[in-house]
Parts: sequence; structure tokens; C-alpha cells
Amino acid sequence: MRLIRDILKDHKKMGKPALSCEFFPAKTAAGEKFLLENVIPRLLAIDPAFFSVTYGAGGSTRDQTLDVVDLIQRKQEVPTMAHLTCVGSTSHDIEGFLSDALKLGINNILALRGDPPPGQDEFIKPEGGFEFSFELVEYIQSQGQFGIGVAGFPEGHIACIEGREVDWDRLKKKVDCGADFIITQLFFDNTDFFTFRDYLRGKGVAKPILAGVIPILSSSQIKKFTQLCGAKLTPEIITRLDELGDDNDAVSEFGVEYASKQCEELISNGVDGLHFYTLNKSRPTLEIVDNLGLRK
Ligand SMILES: Cc1cc2nc3c(=O)[nH]c(=O)nc-3n(C[C@H](O)[C@H](O)[C@H](O)COP(=O)(O)OP(=O)(O)OC[C@H]3O[C@@H](n4cnc5c(N)ncnc54)[C@H](O)[C@@H]3O)c2cc1C
Repeated sequence: MRLIRDILKDHKKMGKPALSCEFFPAKTAAGEKFLLENVIPRLLAIDPAFFSVTYGAGGSTRDQTLDVVDLIQRKQEVPTMAHLTCVGSTSHDIEGFLSDALKLGINNILALRGDPPPGQDEFIKPEGGFEFSFELVEYIQSQGQFGIGVAGFPEGHIACIEGREVDWDRLKKKVDCGADFIITQLFFDNTDFFTFRDYLRGKGVAKPILAGVIPILSSSQIKKFTQLCGAKLTPEIITRLDELGDDNDAVSEFGVEYASKQCEELISNGVDGLHFYTLNKSRPTLEIVDNLGLRK
């Protein structure tokens, strides 16, 4: 499959933001069937630059991640990136994952450290493995012709007590080690994204930076997600969610409206791409792309 870095170069030349969608491997066979036969085919309407599939906490979906990426690539012919984390893996395990990936024609990897496993406050380097994602980036590079993405945090990574600029300097290091592009954590205040992007550009990071966008689907769910990843909800969002309470249809409608406005501003400020955290649903992303007038 094509390397995502080349696809992003084409988008840059065309002056068109790249649209991409992230999925997680479903927990049940019915969920996987729905994802592959319903959600993903519908999302082809946004003319995706690529798709991506997450890697479960602690490596719990190792084989499933590769299976789902493979099925998407074969059925839909859309380049699809496998996420990979350092949690619980030796470099030998990672070598095995990469070699299996290449055999399946999976050559785009999102190189992540991963979160500490449940019950563990801090990330502990696995014996024989890697402590930080920049080491994973270096290792992936040594294993073949891969395109490599990395995670970036417009509000700084939750565990980086030294502050967001220190975290962004470490992100620069991931790029210096060979990452081709950055995908951000979800955020709701575009000012955070613009400050982050300006800082990186000012430090000479020229690689594409894709904004991670999540359409809010439920009040309790987004509060849990933001607490886990350290992203902040804006006062406007908190007020609206309090008004809407448990009415998930109304919350979803608001989520699409908010994300559409957010994306519109990102696009008018030259964002390289929008990466949708779809939560394995097609409708919210399709509605946002419709609102932006970008449907194929
Ligand atoms: C787009 C995206 C997709 C994701 N997909 C998944 C997924 O599929 N599966 C999953 O489990 N998780 C996923 N995550 C979550 C991610 O694994 C966590 O946010 C994790 O805590 C950090 O990963 P990282 O790759 O940014 O780590 P790193 O870049 O290693 O950074 C982790 C922490 O270490 C610090 N650090 C980095 N380098 C150094 C250094 N040299 N010295 C000291 N400190 C340093 C950083 O400041 C940061 O606080 C995703 C996140 C994003 C944004």
C-alpha cells in the first residue's frame, strides 16, 4: 500500500486537507462485521486519505489489529495504518509484529508508547523493550520500509510534569528520529492546536500535523475520555452538556455542530489534515464532512 507520507504530500500539493478515520478492533464478531460491512464502506464517501486501527491496551489486540487492517486494505483498498505500542513487549515481539505486518502489506505504523496498564500509575519500561516512543520510531526504521506516524499533544501529555513545551520538544525528537507525520490527541480549543503547531514550526518541524477530532456522542463518555487523556472541555461545552444531560441524541447533534465549527476554523487556518476518532460510528463523521462541504 502507499505510504501515508506520500499521500499527505499529494494533499499538500493540492492544497486540500487529508481526511482520515480511526477505528478500534471490535470486541465481538458482530461488532467487527458491522464495522467492516457497514461503518467503513459508508465512510468511503469522505474520500479518506487513510484509515487507522488502534492497538489495545497492553497489546491485547495485537493479532486483531493486524487482521482488521488487512481486511480493510484488501476489501476497500484504502491505505490503513496499524497502531503499535511498547506496552508489555520486548523488541523481539515488536520485530515479530512488524514482520507479520509487512507480509500482509501493512507498511504504515503509528508508533506509540502506550498508557500504563490498569492498576499501574507510571509506565514501566518492559524488560528487553522500549521506554519511550522515539525509541520505537528508531526501531521501526531499522526494520524495513515503513511510513511512521507519532502522537502529539496540543495541551501537553498528561504525564509531562515539566510542562507542555518540554513535551513538544520531545515530540520534535520523535520527528528527528524519523517520524513522517504527527496526529494529535483530541482537543476542543483550537487555540491550543495553533499554539502547538506554531511552536513546532518555530522549532523547524515541517512534517504534516493532523488534528485529532472527536465528535462528542455522550456526556458521560466524553468526560471519562478527557479525564483519562488530560484534554480539557471548554466552558461552552461543559455548559451545553450540563443542559443536555443524558439525552444522547441531543448531545450527538451538539457534538457534530461543535466539531463542524472546530474543523471549519482549522481548515481556514491551513490544517494539514483532520483525523476523526470515529468510535466505530460513521454518521457523525459523515455529517461533519457534509457540513464542511467536503463530501466526495
Ligand atoms: C493519535 C493517537 C492514537 C493513539 N492510539 C493508541 C492506541 O492505539 N493504543 C494505545 O494503547 N494508546 C494509544 N494512544 C495513547 C498513547 O499511547 C498515550 O497517550 C501514551 O501515554 C503516550 O504515548 P506517546 O507515544 O505519546 O509516548 P511518548 O512519546 O513516549 O511520551 C510519553 C511521555 O514520556 C515523556 N517523554 C518522552 N520522551 C522522553 C524522554 N526522552 N525523557 C523523559 N520523558 C520523555 C513525554 O513527555 C510523555 O509525557 C494514542 C494517542 C494518540 C494521540
